[in-house]
Amino acid sequence: MTPSGQSILIIGAGMAGLFCALTLSDQSREITLLERDPPPPEGDPEAVFETWNRRGVGQMRQSHAFLARLRSSIASAHPALLEALRAAGCREMEFQRALTDRQRRHYRPQPIDPELVALSCRRTTLETVLRRYVSDLPGVTIRSGCFVEGLILEQTDQRPKILGARTADGENHLADLVVDTGGRLTPGLEGLIAEGCSIPDETADAGVLYYTRHFKLRDGLMEPAKSRGVVTGDLGFMKYCVFPADNGWFSITIAIAEIEDELRVAVVDPSRFDAICSLMPPLDPWLSCSDGVGRVLAMGNLQSRWRDLAPEGMPLVDGYVALGDALIRANPLYGRGCTFAMIQAEALAEAMTEHPSAPLAAFQTRVHQALRPYFDDMAKQDRAAIRQAARVANPDFRPDLKARLLTSFGQQGMAVAVRSDPDLFRQVIEGFHMLTPPGAWMKSRRNLAKAVAWWMVPKAFKRDVLPASPGPSRTTVMESLGLPVSATWQRLQAAA
Ligand SMILES: Cc1cc2nc3c(=O)[nH]c(=O)nc-3n(C[C@H](O)[C@H](O)[C@H](O)COP(=O)(O)OP(=O)(O)OC[C@H]3O[C@@H](n4cnc5c(N)ncnc54)[C@H](O)[C@@H]3O)c2cc1C
Repeated sequence: MTPSGQSILIIGAGMAGLFCALTLSDQSREITLLERDPPPPEGDPEAVFETWNRRGVGQMRQSHAFLARLRSSIASAHPALLEALRAAGCREMEFQRALTDRQRRHYRPQPIDPELVALSCRRTTLETVLRRYVSDLPGVTIRSGCFVEGLILEQTDQRPKILGARTADGENHLADLVVDTGGRLTPGLEGLIAEGCSIPDETADAGVLYYTRHFKLRDGLMEPAKSRGVVTGDLGFMKYCVFPADNGWFSITIAIAEIEDELRVAVVDPSRFDAICSLMPPLDPWLSCSDGVGRVLAMGNLQSRWRDLAPEGMPLVDGYVALGDALIRANPLYGRGCTFAMIQAEALAEAMTEHPSAPLAAFQTRVHQALRPYFDDMAKQDRAAIRQAARVANPDFRPDLKARLLTSFGQQGMAVAVRSDPDLFRQVIEGFHMLTPPGAWMKSRRNLAKAVAWWMVPKAFKRDVLPASPGPSRTTVMESLGLPVSATWQRLQAAA
């Protein structure tokens, strides 16, 4: 321990661990990160993408979006890190780039606009630059190849006190505070539970599996000029999204409803993955300037999860904080996990300023205030999406009048209003990037009135702002792949 400061042991040097080192590093703290995996190889982003062995992070090569809220934190506290990310090829996607022609005609810059910038790159690129930057911070040491087996724990009259962590080589690492950022399968928190610590835990299935393929732009070709905004589609049984990345790369992720067994098997074959993509009109311009590289990367067991280590303000443990995926996990569809991790790291730094020796209760309170509204909103949307996937699986499904009206209002009213009006669009983007509370823009009467007004306008007068069709019906997709159309529905009926 340094004379005036504290020793902090961080389990895991993934996103949350590195963000904690960023927010906690100062001249007085001694911060050690214990990481099971090797460090990134020397070299450029291509070498890292091809060869970094990251068994501890299953989602390492899945598509990642890095929200404006996260970029803002980096830009304001660590401008040199932002510079390093730019130098490595990370791109900054400004709000203005995504404007439609009609929005552009009415656009007036606002003070928030410079904040509305997302980062676009492969996760391997961002994590490597972040890690190299963090390892140069004062007082920070990253020890690779250190597999944490469990916590060192002392039982007291009140509650367990964590003294440090034990690694597979038999070494004991003692610290004033253990910060557990060991991710989804962290040995720290799981060890506490095994010791009988009863931690409130809400878990829900995301209802989808992730399938990602990376694409490289052909020599001399550029990304499609017209698709400046987020290219995404939701067909009820599957969703897709294009993730522009660094150095001529992008990826396409297809998220398929958990109940669609046949489609899930088919999509893993790269040629069938590409065939599915080619059925989606918005993906056309991306496929025609690029080549798919490598296999389709699948990832399941996706859940949202909320754990609380200080229920009702009462810490369950001393000398210990968990954060990142170890504590709270978001359905990846919303692209929020890394931003959640940064917000938690900031909350920990603030809580430690107020309560240096026992930050847990203050930390949990801050996290609850900052993240719970997003978590609840996502959980609600996930439940609706799971119900919708089950409905769409029925080949005879015909939406009733109410559903048809809602769809019509959504596509021809709300979507058109957003695609026409730069101020409304800005509000949507602020919410998406976690700069305002979730759904705040939808609660405004003024915005609702705009949507209703556009709903009344005949299609002929709004053709340029009507959203493009995301893709064909489920029946068309299944038939074009030679897959049974009714099997999912029959299984659901049999299980009912
Ligand atoms: C398919 C998928 C797509 C996603 N897409 C996005 C996205 O678009 N945008 C976004 O913001 N988030 C996304 N996320 C979420 C994001 O990946 C996580 O929220 C983020 O990685 C959490 O960081 P973490 O540090 O808590 O966990 P991790 O990044 O998983 O890091 C955990 C670290 O702990 C180490 N570790 C584990 N066990 C031990 C041990 N025993 N000893 C020592 N070290 C150990 C691991 O090696 C790893 O380095 C996605 C997640 C998934 C699954």
